[in-house]
Amino acid sequence: MDTRPGQQSRPRPRAARLLFGDDPKLHRMLQYWAATALLYLMFIALFYGHGAAARSEVDGLALYTVGGLAAFYLLVRANRRLGLAPTTLAVIQGVFGITCNMWAYSIAGPLRGATLMGLMVVVVFCTFALRPRQTLLLAFFGLTGMGVTMWWHQAQDPLHYPPAVESMTFLLTAACSLSVTFLTGEMTKLRARLKAQKQDLETALATIRTLATIDELTGLANRRHMNEVLLMEQRRRAAVPACIALLDIDFFKRINDSHGHACGDQVLRGFADAARAELRAGDTLARWGGEEFLLLLPDTRAADARAVLDRIRARVAGIPLPVSEPARPVSFSAGLCARRGDEAFADTINRADKALYQAKAAGRDRVVED
Ligand code: GH3
Ligand code: MG
Ligand code: MG
Repeated sequence: MDTRPGQQSRPRPRAARLLFGDDPKLHRMLQYWAATALLYLMFIALFYGHGAAARSEVDGLALYTVGGLAAFYLLVRANRRLGLAPTTLAVIQGVFGITCNMWAYSIAGPLRGATLMGLMVVVVFCTFALRPRQTLLLAFFGLTGMGVTMWWHQAQDPLHYPPAVESMTFLLTAACSLSVTFLTGEMTKLRARLKAQKQDLETALATIRTLATIDELTGLANRRHMNEVLLMEQRRRAAVPACIALLDIDFFKRINDSHGHACGDQVLRGFADAARAELRAGDTLARWGGEEFLLLLPDTRAADARAVLDRIRARVAGIPLPVSEPARPVSFSAGLCARRGDEAFADTINRADKALYQAKAAGRDRVVED
């Protein structure tokens, strides 16, 4: 759920929820349905009002239209259980719209040319749900349907449906619907491009977020992210107990000098893995500097923190080095501090730094607690 301010959806009125449902996808599909239903009903109302068609004929079309609309409403609402693909629903609605158009054309008398605009609406509507090829097929079906209707009328009643007028109307309709189909195809491609660009941007954003928070070599939190974590922790839980430890690998320069920088990097990664294996989900370990690490242990007493550090020391001692070197296992020194009351973490870190200095001075490979 999106909880950003200003992004929360407003609660919908009860009537809208009853009519369109709660699910956003269903809601949108039924909104499309409502928009087309309004158009159909306007057509019917105009037919009744104008009087160009016999009332009984309009009754027939009205019954067909309202029945079809009701059936679609139920179909869309029941589709969660039926599981029809959105394209299938759109094709059925498109075919229904075309048959309505054929019927309207047949009874509209001299106004029949105006009804052809409905055909364009069907094509445009389908671009939202169909692929360009499917839209083209539907447009082709619409044209064939209208062509057959026009041909049938001019053959049956050439006086009221002059063949020259019908063929001209058909050609214009064909030209218009092909143009609209082409343009909607372009629109679909544009939407697909936008969607792909959005995905690329989301991937890039995720990479940037990762780079901004993770140390590339060790996969631990970086210093910047650790500062954010400390700030959040400080704001959220003013006086909750926590421990801070600064860990620094002993004689790391020697490892680099004896085995090369690449081996040094491997030891840093090994150190990170060893430490990570001993931490809980809520703990944070960050690479604070070159071979220096900062550990935050929330809700932890100093004695427990010391036990964690001892376990890490045992694991770190097992990090393999090339055998040619005199057998000195990898070790680290640490300064450990329990946070005092609601002390700022910057002060706790300063104390841990001093304790680390003492650990180094006292011979390394140990934990000194402040
Ligand atoms: P001490 O026991 O007093 O901590 O001695 P030390 O040798 O560990 O400390 P010193 O500060 O003298 O040396 C740290 C070395 O860490 C120097 C630097 O070149 C190396 N270093 C810093 N970052 C990296 C890195 O990303 N990769 C490698 N391989 N070495 C690094
Ligand atoms: Mg060191
Ligand atoms: Mg150091």
